[in-house]
Amino acid sequence: MHYLDANASEPLRPEARAALLQALDATGNPSSIHRSGRAARRWLEDARESLARRFGGRPEDLIFTSGGTEADALALHALGAGRRLIVSAIEHDAIRSGAGTASVTNGGHAVVLPVDATGIADLGQLEILLRDGPPALVCLMLANNETGTIQPIAEAAALCRHHGALLHVDAVQAAGRIQVDLAALGAHSLALSSHKLGGPTGAGALLLAPDAPPIPALIAGGGQERGRRGGTLPVAVIAGFAAAAEACSPQASADLAKLRDAAEWAAQSYGARVCGAGAARLPNTTSLAMPGVRADAQVMALDLAGIAVSAGAACSSGKVAASHVLTAMGLGALAGQAIRVSLPWNATHADVDAFVFAYQRMADRLRSALVPHAA
Ligand code: PLP
Repeated sequence: MHYLDANASEPLRPEARAALLQALDATGNPSSIHRSGRAARRWLEDARESLARRFGGRPEDLIFTSGGTEADALALHALGAGRRLIVSAIEHDAIRSGAGTASVTNGGHAVVLPVDATGIADLGQLEILLRDGPPALVCLMLANNETGTIQPIAEAAALCRHHGALLHVDAVQAAGRIQVDLAALGAHSLALSSHKLGGPTGAGALLLAPDAPPIPALIAGGGQERGRRGGTLPVAVIAGFAAAAEACSPQASADLAKLRDAAEWAAQSYGARVCGAGAARLPNTTSLAMPGVRADAQVMALDLAGIAVSAGAACSSGKVAASHVLTAMGLGALAGQAIRVSLPWNATHADVDAFVFAYQRMADRLRSALVPHAA
């Protein structure tokens, strides 16, 4: 199988596996004060220090969670309290469904911020919304999971700060693939996820800016994480998370971009349209629409040829609904006809060659099925 669905979950990096296995032998609970507990705590605090520094924050401002979804939920719960919610139209469901719930408890509705044809949020509209209304929490992802489009977060953060709004950034897909630095971006919080950067599934983090408001827990529990997130943490998984983040490099991303470009170029020559082309995008991601052919038919045809890709977000696989991201970009019927190809950190030329071969065969077959044969 050629696995080209990294945005759903990256393969485990060897560095992460090694750290995970080593830390699994740490027997204690990191909250215990005896020696075993302290050993487990060391793993945890080393990981916290490493992750916080890597992503432009302070260790004391990093709250471990079970993954990206919980990090987003915690941000909505804690930073959104008493604020109007403004959410970009292309956010992941972790934010979209959470925003729906949070706005209900806030007694208001989340306002949707539109995007242009390449998937970039309309900052002119954001400024109007911020100028005219009460204090807001704005949710704008750093890179989109379907198209890879990268948002102008620093500009959005400057606007938010000018108007007294908070900005939460879902950096789940960007982390490990492009540089992510909370301080440089100027946002108030950042969501991260271990399995999206080659760590084990089961850990994520919310990294706060030093001037973010205090965070009331979503899960109070035993007061772990300075009372901001209760529950015993999976020390070994977190050690793997930190090791995976350390293993990511700009050079590897640049190499991946060359492979992605080759796959994209070939697919275009067989009739694919690249969604989000023209915008800055993640190096590993391409969203390829084949006019007239349903996305799930493409995913199945490629699967039979040994290629794993997806039709939009993994969380919505099984649904045949058109992508809300591509719909927001104004792509109309193409929103139900695009597949996401996302190269993992260990993708090779052989993977791309296999994809290109399978894509060409699929394009010939599925498209000829669309054209009625002459009698
Ligand atoms: N945010 C984005 C942009 C994602 O792509 C995903 C997962 O696909 C999530 C959040 C949820 O992350 P997790 O799977 O760690 O809960």
